[in-house]
Amino acid sequence: MKYYVGIDFGGTNMKIGIINEKGLIVIKNSFVTDPNKSGDDIIKHIAECTQKVMDDSKLPQEDIMGIGIGTPGLLNPETGVLKVAVNIPNLNGIHVTKGMSDILGKPTFLDNDVNIMSLGEFYYGAGKGLKHIVALTLGTGVGGGIILNGELYRGASFTAGELGHISISRDGKSCPCGNSGCLERYIGRDGIVERFMVSKNKGFETNIDNYLDDGEITPKAIAMAANAGDTLSKKVLEEIGEILGSVLAGLVNTLNPEAIIIGGGVSNAGELILGPARTTMNKLAYSIPAEVVKIVKAELGNDAGLVGSASLAVANLK
Ligand SMILES: [Zn+2]
Repeated sequence: MKYYVGIDFGGTNMKIGIINEKGLIVIKNSFVTDPNKSGDDIIKHIAECTQKVMDDSKLPQEDIMGIGIGTPGLLNPETGVLKVAVNIPNLNGIHVTKGMSDILGKPTFLDNDVNIMSLGEFYYGAGKGLKHIVALTLGTGVGGGIILNGELYRGASFTAGELGHISISRDGKSCPCGNSGCLERYIGRDGIVERFMVSKNKGFETNIDNYLDDGEITPKAIAMAANAGDTLSKKVLEEIGEILGSVLAGLVNTLNPEAIIIGGGVSNAGELILGPARTTMNKLAYSIPAEVVKIVKAELGNDAGLVGSASLAVANLK
């Protein structure tokens, strides 16, 4: 059996685990990095933590084929250089993969968190057995990963998949990216809460107060209220699904994928969003590509980052 290490590097926190070739996690652990150390010392620390997990696994070291690292920063997956790290400026410009493989003697690969989530779903989740998928993460931001012919599509300068910044309205809400009307501004976390508040402030009836999430109105609270029959919450999530569905129709027409896999925290609303998204997509897309595509929730859940990172090693070493 072959094994692959995944490192879900979120900034100062990291999860390190090992999966077998079937995608099952055999061991995992969490660690904290000191952001004040030098870049090289941080790499050394990540390598030490990785070695500890490999030792604790008791696996023959030669059966561990390689290491994949997923991180939300700006990076070059071909060179393995992290250009802008999230919350750890000392890692900016550091050649992460070389540093790691020099210490551990294992091939190491680096990619962004959304691409690795796509790879994880492709190999071991909702996209298993398929060739063409689009993965979308719905959370604070909206990100995307595209796999065509079994290969992650990165584009000419590694920026492909920015689906959250497709503009759905030229005169729409302004976005920090410089564009107006970006999808993310409507169906990201804040966009959903904003839409809910506009209606609530107009006086629409709602019992959201019974479902607050740590005292706050969040997409999770709205989904709980909707599941309990709150009409306003249901209507808001339905509209979010319709907006999503109209963009998915464009993707279906452009890429003709077999599946669109929706992950991220907001996707926990499940069919409350996916149902209307599917209906709208079917209405708007050409029928031939619409008939083959399935719109489904991601399957890997809390371990998506870990299994996805390890899948990056699988993709590069297959
Ligand atoms: Zn934008």
